[in-house]
Amino acid sequence: MPEQDSPAVVWLRDDLRVSDNPALREAIDSGRPVLPVYVLDDSGGAGRPLGAASRWWLHHSLAALDASLQKRGSRLVLRHGDGAEEVADVMRRTGAGLLTMNRRYVRGEREQDDRARLAAEQAGAAVSDHTASLLHEPGEVLNGSGDRFAVFTPFFRALSGAGTPRDPLPAPAAIDGWTGEVHSVDLADLGLLPTKPDWSGGLADTWTPGEKGAHRRVDEFVQHRLAGYAAHRDEPAAEASSRLSPHLKFGEISPYQLWHRVQGADAPADVRMKFLTELGWRDFDYDLLDTHPDLDTVNVHRNFDAFPWAEVDDEVLAAWQQGRTGIPLVDAGMRQLWATGWMHNRVRMVTASFFIKNLRYDWRLGEQWFWDTLVDADPANNAAQWQWVAGSGADAAPYFRVFNPVLQAQKFDPAGEYIAEWVPELRPLDAKGRHEPWNAAAATDYPAPVVDLKRSRQAALDAYQRMRD
Ligand code: FAD
Repeated sequence: MPEQDSPAVVWLRDDLRVSDNPALREAIDSGRPVLPVYVLDDSGGAGRPLGAASRWWLHHSLAALDASLQKRGSRLVLRHGDGAEEVADVMRRTGAGLLTMNRRYVRGEREQDDRARLAAEQAGAAVSDHTASLLHEPGEVLNGSGDRFAVFTPFFRALSGAGTPRDPLPAPAAIDGWTGEVHSVDLADLGLLPTKPDWSGGLADTWTPGEKGAHRRVDEFVQHRLAGYAAHRDEPAAEASSRLSPHLKFGEISPYQLWHRVQGADAPADVRMKFLTELGWRDFDYDLLDTHPDLDTVNVHRNFDAFPWAEVDDEVLAAWQQGRTGIPLVDAGMRQLWATGWMHNRVRMVTASFFIKNLRYDWRLGEQWFWDTLVDADPANNAAQWQWVAGSGADAAPYFRVFNPVLQAQKFDPAGEYIAEWVPELRPLDAKGRHEPWNAAAATDYPAPVVDLKRSRQAALDAYQRMRD
């Protein structure tokens, strides 16, 4: 094969974008024809297989990426199997001389990337990898003694104090795409979409996966909602947050793009910083995943290994999953999650706290449900945040601080608007009735609470004391 035909393979993973994509940029700059590849690995070998809602998102994101690449003169090759083996196969069959990729951080992913690197180098190809989905590499932000931070606030102070993140790279106007023949699976054959039944209607109504959809959402957020972000982000009915989490998860937009866009926006400095601080949690959670690779299964604070979790009652578990616990804010959140694949941050904390403390179920079981149903299900953020609520994580809420879902609703959803949106049975009631339907005079077909909030709170505190003893 003549040298000029030897392509640069770009292995795309959680960076499904053409702008600010260092791996794609390097492939283009190499002067070789460019061959972008995505491999769906269901084996679990590269970390946890995606949940159902994430698979729906991935299907549409891959379709959008392929269209964007084709518009520029390239196309996306799809494979199904072990990532390292499939990439090695593509490189062998095309005589590729360069492999570029953006770094991944789950242990199995790192191992797979190392194998791909080794195979490419043994075949005489050059390999390069880049930081693209985080603002820093895990382990780079250290305290004065050279150790990792255990607490978020000083971590973020150090991260943001280390200088402005690099400028984002522009999208390439055209790509010299490799035009040879190499096997590619049809997107439909990856089996990412639900079929029997197809439950994805609510997701399709809510989201536009893909880079264009991500940028549209950023535009809309910066123009209309950023100014009120700090004041209203905790109010689930206000829709004041960005809803960029699934776009960030799949890398349809990079944190560098978001950082600079928000810093350049016409909003007070403290509001902009509040948003960037939230963005900083991603980096903190990935730092934690780096030191605790089993974050989704093993307590960061191992004393929680002795926690006396309650035995699971399948009916109660199903009531939580389906939003039928009889606790309005919990049910509203769980129904929002089921319908749209997303839940407001405050309500995530309340539903998780109810699960861990009022039901006293092992946090890993709730984390798994979120993993399957969230479109932004993220290996670091989901596990770290569940452990945060459980009290077993880094810089976590102390276990004995139990959210009261009624008080939380009164404070953050005072008119019960969010509750009424997702729990239509409670719409006829006034705010008081929506918060505490068990005290309302009017009858509804809304269920009675599956647990007594006061008694279950005390039982949780007693269990915590037993663990400490
Ligand atoms: P915004 O407020 O607009 O924030 C902007 C971005 O910052 C988010 O898109 C997200 O990438 C990041 N961010 C904000 N808050 C957090 C946080 N607390 N931790 C980590 N990153 C944050 N977030 C996920 O991305 N994936 C998950 O799987 C996930 N699971 C969670 C589970 C629980 C139990 C809890 C309490 C939180 C979880 N979060 C998770 C964090 C947070 O709820 C979501 O990131 C946020 O609700 C996304 O909405 P947004 O994009 O409008 O956020």
